[in-house]
Amino acid sequence: MPWPLELLALLLILIAFFGGYVLASRGAERTKGAQVDKLRRSYFRGLNYLLNEQQDKAIEVFLQIAEVDKHTIETHLALGNLFRRRGETDRAIRVHQNLIARPNLTSEQKSLALLELGEDYMRAGLLDRAETLFTDLVSIDTHAATALRQLISICQQERDWARGIDFARRLEKTTGESQADLIAQFLCELADAKLQANKIDDGRRLLAEARAAAPAAVRAYAQESKLAHARGEDRVCIQFGSRALELDAELTPELMPLVVEAFDRTGEPKRADDFLENAMLRYPGVSPVIAKSRRIVEREGEDAAIRFLSERLKSRPSVRGLASLVDLQVKSAESAAREQLTSLGELLARLIRAQSAYRCNKCGFGAKQHHWQCPGCKSWSSVRPVHGVAGD
Ligand SMILES: [Zn+2]
Repeated sequence: MPWPLELLALLLILIAFFGGYVLASRGAERTKGAQVDKLRRSYFRGLNYLLNEQQDKAIEVFLQIAEVDKHTIETHLALGNLFRRRGETDRAIRVHQNLIARPNLTSEQKSLALLELGEDYMRAGLLDRAETLFTDLVSIDTHAATALRQLISICQQERDWARGIDFARRLEKTTGESQADLIAQFLCELADAKLQANKIDDGRRLLAEARAAAPAAVRAYAQESKLAHARGEDRVCIQFGSRALELDAELTPELMPLVVEAFDRTGEPKRADDFLENAMLRYPGVSPVIAKSRRIVEREGEDAAIRFLSERLKSRPSVRGLASLVDLQVKSAESAAREQLTSLGELLARLIRAQSAYRCNKCGFGAKQHHWQCPGCKSWSSVRPVHGVAGD
């Protein structure tokens, strides 16, 4: 990558200035110590910022500075940080280990270096070592909040949800910031494992615990609704499904079919209709519209459904809606037109299959199905249905 001349010039000036200042101040080291330190710190902060996009050159410059002043802790911290960000974790680990081994570090400098080393270990996949280090920092109550966040991240990677909850509660105590949403997600993960092992009562107890921990924990309502649907408990499915959709209408594609079916099974088709009407008002996607068109087919026939769907698609065009419309028209078409409509339907189906139905609003990860935790960036509840012409 070319190195912009202006930036290079600026750096050279900074280096010359800094080098000169340090050398000049050596004579009066005792009195000017604090001032030099202050200058040094702001200099490195600025330099770090400047060099964010130019890592090769940054390393060169840092190595030069490290040579000029072997005692500069910040240079080594910045160097190690750069190595880690470039994926050179071995070099980052070496820099930070060397730093920690120095006898003259203050306890603050040492704990900073330990934090950095912990991050190197995480990046290198050495989770055990990272965990030991962060646990030590928490036990001596230094940078405890950062260390606890890293420990929570390790637990997530290891899917150790119970310990994750423990650390999240400690983080709440340390910072005073609520971790209720995260704790609820972890409880839902624990519930999932129990339900998969067919331990229904244990799973339900954990889901209830999640709802108690965070009353807006939409996942705990959604999971209960799905479980009840699978077990034929229609009233429970409706109750929890409706609550989940009140909290987050974007779960409509996931939960709407279950709740509609549950209403039908309890002999309340009118309430299913009302539920769909409400879903069409609250949810911008086409899936409730398609669901309603299917009900119209059953009651009034294909022509009425085609009229309804065409009307809807005028105001909100959608490939999925069009595919449903073509599907309806195939059935009532003359044989010559039917062949063409069938090929068009197949084309549309291929188009839909090629699209991601869901996307993470944090990292852009595209997914065919819903995930509570983004497989890309590991954020929670960030994977949402894609809307618009090609989406839902
Ligand atoms: Zn993501």
